Amino acid sequence: MISLRNVSKYYYKNGMISSGISKVSLDFRLGEFVVITGESGSGKSTLLNVISGLDSYEEGEMYINGEETSHYLATDFEKYRKKYIANIFQTFNLVSSYTVYQNVELILLINGYRDVHERVNNILRQVGMLEYAKTKVSKLSGGQKQRVAIARALAKDTDIIVADEPTANLDSESAGAIGRILREIAKDKLVIVVTHSFDQFAPYATRRVKMHDGRIVEDVLFYNTPMLEPGDYRQGNLSFGNQIRLGIRNTFNIPYKFLLLFMVFLFLAASTMGLYSAYIRMDQAAEEQDKMNEVFANASDKRIILTKDHGVEFTDQDYERLRATPGIGTVVPNDIILDKQCYLTLETDELYCFPHGVSELEGVKLHSGRLPEKEDEVVVGIGDLSYYSDLVDQNGQFRLSDMTTSGKKVTVVGVVKKQRHKYDMEDIYLNDDYLQTIRAQEYASRSSVSLESNGIIWNNDLGEDEYGLESMSFMEPSKKVPKGKMVVPEGFGENFQIPTTEYTGESEEMPMDRSFVGKGVDVTVENPFFTEKTAFQVSDVYNDKKSFEKTVGGKYDEGLTAVYINQDDYNGLFRKGNYQCSVYVESTDKIEEVLKGLKGYKTFVMAETMSSESEIYGGGMEGILSLLLPIIIAVIFVIFCISYIVIGLILRSRNAYFSILRILGLQKRRIENILNIEILLIANLAFAVVTACKAFTRVFPATVQKMLDIMGVKDYIILYILIMIMALLISHLFARKLFKKTAIGTFREGEV
Ligand code: ADP
Ligand code: MG
Repeated sequence: MISLRNVSKYYYKNGMISSGISKVSLDFRLGEFVVITGESGSGKSTLLNVISGLDSYEEGEMYINGEETSHYLATDFEKYRKKYIANIFQTFNLVSSYTVYQNVELILLINGYRDVHERVNNILRQVGMLEYAKTKVSKLSGGQKQRVAIARALAKDTDIIVADEPTANLDSESAGAIGRILREIAKDKLVIVVTHSFDQFAPYATRRVKMHDGRIVEDVLFYNTPMLEPGDYRQGNLSFGNQIRLGIRNTFNIPYKFLLLFMVFLFLAASTMGLYSAYIRMDQAAEEQDKMNEVFANASDKRIILTKDHGVEFTDQDYERLRATPGIGTVVPNDIILDKQCYLTLETDELYCFPHGVSELEGVKLHSGRLPEKEDEVVVGIGDLSYYSDLVDQNGQFRLSDMTTSGKKVTVVGVVKKQRHKYDMEDIYLNDDYLQTIRAQEYASRSSVSLESNGIIWNNDLGEDEYGLESMSFMEPSKKVPKGKMVVPEGFGENFQIPTTEYTGESEEMPMDRSFVGKGVDVTVENPFFTEKTAFQVSDVYNDKKSFEKTVGGKYDEGLTAVYINQDDYNGLFRKGNYQCSVYVESTDKIEEVLKGLKGYKTFVMAETMSSESEIYGGGMEGILSLLLPIIIAVIFVIFCISYIVIGLILRSRNAYFSILRILGLQKRRIENILNIEILLIANLAFAVVTACKAFTRVFPATVQKMLDIMGVKDYIILYILIMIMALLISHLFARKLFKKTAIGTFREGEV
């Protein structure tokens, strides 16, 4: 059956060579019951391991059924072990987290047996362990464990049974039973038993081999056994279904281990997702901020700004014509305030808005609430309502203020859902009256105002800078000043240079004083939209709180320098109609076509003046992103490494399990599959839990909500693939480490 010719095996340790066995020559045949004895370190275990194909040998030849094995590769020895060898060990090598039944079942599954249930029960009955079938191996006594190990060795059909000191850990009573069971069940097999106490096996032995210092020193045949033919045993393999079964069994076998692995994968999945979502958020922000217009804040490449001749207002007919022009999506009449930014102070947040007229909401369905009825009522248009949940159901008081004037209290009475603006801007819809007030303020702030009296001109032009004309607003309305009259501050014009009558390039200061009372002042208002002239008469001068309250009224601040006119006169100068209008085309490729339909208007196509932010600020988001990507990849790599190390530590105790599988003859590929199934199963569970969070966003803080919100189906698929690849990689790296050593080598490590 098996022959050894001058077989030697050396161990290399710390640069020293020691021989395990040297020049051993032996022949074994079926039906023999060989007992090998010898003192400790004489090479008995080494001999058995070589015969079992668990360890390699360096010299000599080993034949199995006449076939030479020195050219065998690791995979050939796997097949060899599977076909011929069943091992029984001193330390049992059972899977202690499996039940008795599962341990015996394992060997049958590995060898592709079909009638598993019946066979397991049969063999358990033969070794007297049937009543313990459902008991976990860790709960058994040593003698019981060795019976299970024998049951496992005998469950599959092999010709050779190799037992290394099977009774060393047992009391003498159990030990005697082991010999008997082996002899009874394995009559037609080759049984090789190593033992210190020959007596325990003496009644059953057919031959005794004694070893000393790695050599055979005695080989006694007690009686000849009949010649037997080797069995022709069917060799099956662990089916894929059973690989999955074992993978799942291992996953949940030891609950705390499962929990640990699950936590690690939860950490891996959650942190990868966090980083991934941070990146796509930056990426989206970069894309959104990519283009902007330096002058018009409300930048859009679909926007066209229209004006008519100087001083000519837009009328309802204009709007109707524009709405009817093909290719135009939206018409925004009050263009002049479209680029003005207001902000609403909410309880927890600030809402930045572009102002619109309520008329733009015609035919639009409100998400909640109603349209404004009074001047201090507004509707807000919001891209993502979930960000401002306190607005939706609340009609409380909010403060509205724009950037230049002091705050005015308004009530949000309605909410409408809008497409998201760039820069997280929202929209606010104002009552017509309030809109006109804001528009008048806007005209005033963009106007050049000149006062002329007795040939002297005071002008608020402060010169030009790169953004155009800079001016100082010095004309304010008052209800107390009579119509046609003007109240001026004493010393008006002190802080600016006034050109003399015929402008000569020279200028001088000419402050107003009490002597101007009763004199006429011509006011000229000029801006890009219209020109307006009105004559006033100076009625009073103020120079302190008392005189201010008497002549102008209202709150006095130290250093007021504005001239005051009647509210109606002010409205006549500034509260004008609309001189600029914007249209938004349906899509940018329709701009050409739309422009053809806009004959008669002066047009300004915003798309032509848009520039990317990186052009303006140099680098910008793109630069940050290109820096961020390698950092994110590096951090994911670090997280991966940490996970790998921790998983490696948790799985370390699995080494013993996997080397048992190898000792039982399971191929590497299938062992790796079982490991893959376990790791993938846990990774999937972790991913499922992380993904399920999307359904419960409400319970998370806002930052996590945004993170989950931003991820689309595509992103989840990418993440899934990413995490599964990482899981497989971890599994693969672990398996590679595991298989670097010989089966018995891995096992020794796992024992520690
Ligand atoms: P036995 O089983 O008879 O007690 P072994 O076969 O275990 O003896 O050991 C035979 C010799 O080989 C001993 O000298 C032992 O020190 C050495 N040996 C066994 N295993 C190893 C190993 N893994 N590394 C180094 N030396 C070993
Ligand atoms: Mg030994």
